[in-house]
Amino acid sequence: MNVRKWVRKEILEQQAYAADVINCQIKLDANENPFALSPPLQAKLLERMKAVPLNRYPDAGAPLLRKRFAQYYGVNENMLMIGNGSDELIQILCTALAGPVSDLLIPIPTFAMYRILGLNNGYHVREVPLDNAFDLNVKAIVEKISKKTMTLTFISYPNNPTGNCFSADRIETILDKSTGIVVVDEAYFNFSEKTFLPLLNRYENLVILRTLSKVGFAAMRIGFLIGPPELITELDKVRLPYNLNTLSQIAAIFFLDHEEMFLDQIHEIIRERKSLLEKLSNLEGIQPYPSDANFIFFSCTLDANNVCKQILRQGILIKPIKLPRSGQTCIRVTVGKCEENEAFIQALKSVITK
Ligand code: PMP
Repeated sequence: MNVRKWVRKEILEQQAYAADVINCQIKLDANENPFALSPPLQAKLLERMKAVPLNRYPDAGAPLLRKRFAQYYGVNENMLMIGNGSDELIQILCTALAGPVSDLLIPIPTFAMYRILGLNNGYHVREVPLDNAFDLNVKAIVEKISKKTMTLTFISYPNNPTGNCFSADRIETILDKSTGIVVVDEAYFNFSEKTFLPLLNRYENLVILRTLSKVGFAAMRIGFLIGPPELITELDKVRLPYNLNTLSQIAAIFFLDHEEMFLDQIHEIIRERKSLLEKLSNLEGIQPYPSDANFIFFSCTLDANNVCKQILRQGILIKPIKLPRSGQTCIRVTVGKCEENEAFIQALKSVITK
């Protein structure tokens, strides 16, 4: 069947996001928290979920969550919107702000969904490669963001996949000079502890994203957008009324009630990150970059695609990533549990010393 007459050009030209389900014993490709809930906590969560009337719609707009998380972030309730993962909030921003001619700017490499959702919504996606230190090329960005049609800039802070936080003063320059909204995506905040939250009062074009996906609830799809109340009011017109299901709303409250336990896991991941970085640094032909996130980005002298394939043969899934400027492919590995990281290092060693 020829669907070309019905489907928009921007969609026809795209590939669907490749999130294949690949069988593996050790999953280090998606920046998830490797630790499951302990059995007693799992039982406690299930107990709360059992009480849910599944025949009823969820609370529209998740008002209880908004209240609790607004307190948690130290902002007013009307500055917060809850999403089905932060992916949905990126989509809502793109849908609500797209005009007949709009530009969307991203530094590259960065999180793939900014580009995909921008293209889906008809934006001209302007990509500016990072400099050699993986920091923002602020001069090239400023040239583009002062255009009238510049609507949205997405900055992943820390950046996925490079793992670093860009210089805060460069982001502030972008906030100063941009005619559009600047989204600082703090998906990995818990691992960097660096935030632009205190700057919300200073910049009316600043929007911040957070998520519970990296801290232990990836399956539940819970994301947060924090920004000016006037903007939230408009974005709310695009959000579907029941976007966050009741079980996810319960999980989000559960996170707040048991934050200490999640933070313990995060501290363990940060300790493991240090040890994994040291081990990678000691390997011949491997150059890891320092990370503020729960993953490490590294280059290797061998063909990275092939290295990933061979490591998968040993049951470990990691992600190859192509750099835009040099065309070189590097690798991103999520920090796992101690024994998972050790198995990964052994597998990598066996591949590079073959
Ligand atoms: N932003 C960044 C920078 C990410 O890396 C990810 C997940 N890979 C997301 C947002 C999406 O998170 P969520 O699961 O909340 O949709």
